[in-house]
Amino acid sequence: MSTDLLRRRARARRTTVVSRPTALVDLAVLRANARTIARLTGTPLLAVVKADGYGHGAVPLARAALAGGASALGVTSVTEAVALRRAGIDVPVLSWLNAPATDFRPALHARVDLAVPSLDHLRAIRAAVRRTGVPATVHLHVDIGMTRDGAEQDSWRRLCAEARAAEEAEEVVVHGLMGHLGCADRPGHPTTTRDLDRFDLATRVAHAAGLRPTVRHLGGTAAALTEPRARLDLCRVGAGLVGIDPAASGALLRPALTLLAPVVAVREARAGQRVGYGDAHALPRATRLALLPVGYADGIPRIASGHASVLLHGRRCPVVGLVSMDQVVVDVGPLPVVAGDTAVVLGPGSTGEPTAHEWARWAGTIEHEIVTGIGPRVDRRHVEEDH
Ligand SMILES: *Cc1c(COP(=O)(O)O)cnc(C)c1O
Repeated sequence: MSTDLLRRRARARRTTVVSRPTALVDLAVLRANARTIARLTGTPLLAVVKADGYGHGAVPLARAALAGGASALGVTSVTEAVALRRAGIDVPVLSWLNAPATDFRPALHARVDLAVPSLDHLRAIRAAVRRTGVPATVHLHVDIGMTRDGAEQDSWRRLCAEARAAEEAEEVVVHGLMGHLGCADRPGHPTTTRDLDRFDLATRVAHAAGLRPTVRHLGGTAAALTEPRARLDLCRVGAGLVGIDPAASGALLRPALTLLAPVVAVREARAGQRVGYGDAHALPRATRLALLPVGYADGIPRIASGHASVLLHGRRCPVVGLVSMDQVVVDVGPLPVVAGDTAVVLGPGSTGEPTAHEWARWAGTIEHEIVTGIGPRVDRRHVEEDH
């Protein structure tokens, strides 16, 4: 079928035609989500753009969030932080998860703020300050209950004292205190109150050590949307920017990403014919099958085999057989699907396609894992749609 005809048919169905797996990321939706969150929290917004902006592209997500009202950015590694600077982004950037052996000098030269979760980190940062002559702006990170990143309660007093000494030596400025909430996606959970109390205690310890941090921040999207006590001076939000509402808060956030895949082949298949790896997947009846060039290497969870479906010609078509590394087979039944058509693998759900939420249910996971799992082989295309 001619490309022209395919385009016309797709336009009639209001879908984009792609010739390779493509993630369309709607920048207008990202901006609107940032605006919604900033308005709802009434608190300065640090846009978290780690993991390539939750699979949406770190720099485009950063720019969209800033345009939507964010005033700072956050990532895990200094590598990601320096990449934002290289892209010409000038707002405060905080990096919070690095090994003490990290070379912190590029971060200092790039004016990247650094989280400090341990004495080892503080010492490594001070060494880098002495070698570069550039003082560090840091946020001391305390573990308030997740037993994960952040200083243990026992070592907090010591960390604060040494950070204060580093301030006196004019090597660091302790600009912030940070913690993280583990149960904020369950509003009203008693653990959150306990964790907030621990953060207050950690703040008093820091003050007693002579520190005067100006920003205190806790938690991610769920905390920002559902727990006013956790908003403090700054909300660190990532998931919400890309339309994930982990606490089902009811905030009007929209998914910004649509994953499309071209049909590379269509074939007739007989009843009883096997599909894909293994011998467990025989067709119960004769049908037509479409082949899509996306698999688990592209983020289609293999464990969703047997549950998943995609949208073709406006209809849900089940994935049959196991998801392979590079391909999936879809039962299109009587639909007049031809090679060159475009399948909607996931999207906001506005035309009946599965959402990341639905894929997460099929795979027994959370939406974050679905969107961050979209692999590097998938083209990212940033568009302005906002329909
Ligand atoms: C990822 C992350 C966030 C953002 O969390 P979301 O729930 O995605 O908004 C906030 N703080 C820290 C420390 C993080 O690692």
